[in-house]
Amino acid sequence: MTNIISGTEIGKQIRQSIADRVVKLKDQGVTPGLAVILVGDNPASQTYVRNKQKSCEAIGIYSELVKLPEDTKESELLEQIQQLNKRQDIHGILVQLPLPKHINEDNVIATIAPEKDVDGFSPVSVGKMMLGQETFLPCTPFGVMKLLEYTGVDLAGKHAVVVGRSHIVGKPMGQLLLQKDATVTYTHSKTNDLPSITKQADILIAAVGRANFITKEHVKPGAIVIDVGINRDENNKLVGDVDFDDVSPIASHITPVPGGVGPMTITMLLFNTVQSAEHSL
Ligand code: NDP
Repeated sequence: MTNIISGTEIGKQIRQSIADRVVKLKDQGVTPGLAVILVGDNPASQTYVRNKQKSCEAIGIYSELVKLPEDTKESELLEQIQQLNKRQDIHGILVQLPLPKHINEDNVIATIAPEKDVDGFSPVSVGKMMLGQETFLPCTPFGVMKLLEYTGVDLAGKHAVVVGRSHIVGKPMGQLLLQKDATVTYTHSKTNDLPSITKQADILIAAVGRANFITKEHVKPGAIVIDVGINRDENNKLVGDVDFDDVSPIASHITPVPGGVGPMTITMLLFNTVQSAEHSL
């Protein structure tokens, strides 16, 4: 029987434990604070930001939205970040991506103080993660690791295949799996004969950005399949990168979309923000 890994349920449990930590922090006079910077009016970004703020409020984290117009100069944005870096009531800073094209994302992310980089995207955070040092882990791969932890499956020696090599999902995903002693293979758009590789996976992570791309031809029977994708199909329905109906009968565990990795990403953002506040004590 296939186990459906519910990010909604697991996320709820983790959020409860984060909320307990918020109460303890408040008892010590500290309210965790997250600043979210949104530049421009991208509708998807607005929705993501609203969800992050709501989730913060639900567990007692103070959230502050810094909304800037589309034509904000890069120097003005950097100045805003520097101001937030100095504030004691702000423990996490997040810049919602993508940014308008005239702004260099690398410069912006590198300006966030590493001790407030709760998205885990800055070069310092990424470098520390690669070295296995304590740092904020990027929220989506961190959330996937929590989901895998909840399956109770020992990752050591398992063959994990990651489809996708983006800076925010694929690359860090492989690193975190490697740190748990999985044998990791990265695949991407230039990979030859993708199904022959994904079919070897004990753990298959799909982070491609193409609706229903992974079918049962890509999957070894009994594999754990984690679907990071968030896409709209031809009927405008929210679907993952994995064709759930096709793959779920042969997988041992599988995440649904929605309700799989998505809720975990925000959960780990809350986790990192509270951890940052705890470090400030
Ligand atoms: P990117 O577009 O940055 O990366 C996609 C990756 O998929 C690239 O590495 C690309 O390869 C690879 N790829 C594209 N086509 C193929 C193919 N035919 N065969 C093999 N590999 C291919 O996307 P992200 O990593 O940012 O996001 C991936 C998905 O995850 C998206 O659907 C996104 O919406 C979703 N997402 C979900 C989150 C969540 O909270 N659940 C959070 C973040 C993202 P190459 O490098 O060669 O171009």
